Amino acid sequence: MVLRAPSDLVEDQVARPQPAAGQVLVRITHSGVCGTDYKIFNGSIPVPYPLIPGHEMAGEVVDVGRVPTSPGAGVGRVPTSTEATRVGPAADFSPGDRVVIDPETYCGSCFHCRIGQTNLCPNGTLIGRDVNGGFAEYLMVPASQVFRLPDSIDDRTAPMIQVLTTCLHAQRQVDTFPGDTVVVLGLGVTGQLHVQLAKARGARVIGITRSAEKRAMAEKLGADLTIAGGDAAIQKVREATEGRGADLTIETTGVMKQLADSIHMTRFGGKVLLFGIYTVKEGPLPFYDIYFKEISLISARVAKAEDYPASIALVDRGQVRLEPLVSDVMPLGELKAAIGLLGSDSGQRMKIILDHS
Ligand SMILES: [Zn+2]
Ligand SMILES: [Zn+2]
Repeated sequence: MVLRAPSDLVEDQVARPQPAAGQVLVRITHSGVCGTDYKIFNGSIPVPYPLIPGHEMAGEVVDVGRVPTSPGAGVGRVPTSTEATRVGPAADFSPGDRVVIDPETYCGSCFHCRIGQTNLCPNGTLIGRDVNGGFAEYLMVPASQVFRLPDSIDDRTAPMIQVLTTCLHAQRQVDTFPGDTVVVLGLGVTGQLHVQLAKARGARVIGITRSAEKRAMAEKLGADLTIAGGDAAIQKVREATEGRGADLTIETTGVMKQLADSIHMTRFGGKVLLFGIYTVKEGPLPFYDIYFKEISLISARVAKAEDYPASIALVDRGQVRLEPLVSDVMPLGELKAAIGLLGSDSGQRMKIILDHS
């Protein structure tokens, strides 16, 4: 599926890529559609055209790029840095391996990569935004971006591993202790994942949303208490915490008013995790409360390679469930309709998965 210009999405044929050394060719079986795709489609996120979007994807390895054997190759030869870091892992994959793809690439040599902040690499790209992505039959990616899936995780839910990694990376930025009260504000796909992650960390979890269906889902997935969204929610959180407020509030909506509410429902000395993406440049926040309550505001951006094996293990062990979050499965050819569904607000819609078969 090729985006030729904003809102101009067509089905097209492109040549099947040949994997170069260190690259893996993956036949995409399923992909996830999210708000980023919606913004790429309508042009509010600018991209190079023509572009194949898609950054939440899983599939099967069909070909692995081999290191060319040159006369100089052999024992004692010092590998070039490219081979050492990028070619090595390709050998670990074989055709037939089921994998999930990390769409966030990084250079490995800049200041941020060298201090372990690969998610902040200024030379990085997002596959499906800056380069061609997964709404296609095949995708060639560096082996460093590919992670093997256990049999316990099915193809249909596997694209959501990428979404889970962003939630896990965010929760890694904050300490919580067993018994802490964690409020999750907004119970869409990422909110439901944060509920499960916080439960896995031993927290007592309160979920907040206006949608009764999403509150019921959060309770099924482990939330100890859910509260209807709105102005009364702040008071209800305080009542549920002996008047104190939450130890940690995770704001997942990206709406400034909800961020302000998050500050009000967090206890003195507590933390607010800004998970929602605030696209506004400025807005009103209760700054005096931030000071007076000594609130820590913590941000997080995308994920790192370390979050993939950890997320896969959490799903494999059943500590995080993805299947209940799939609300629609559609064929890849209906991508435009799927994006249209995202634009139309529906209280019950969760994750839309595309089936590429
Ligand atoms: Zn996404
Ligand atoms: Zn870098």
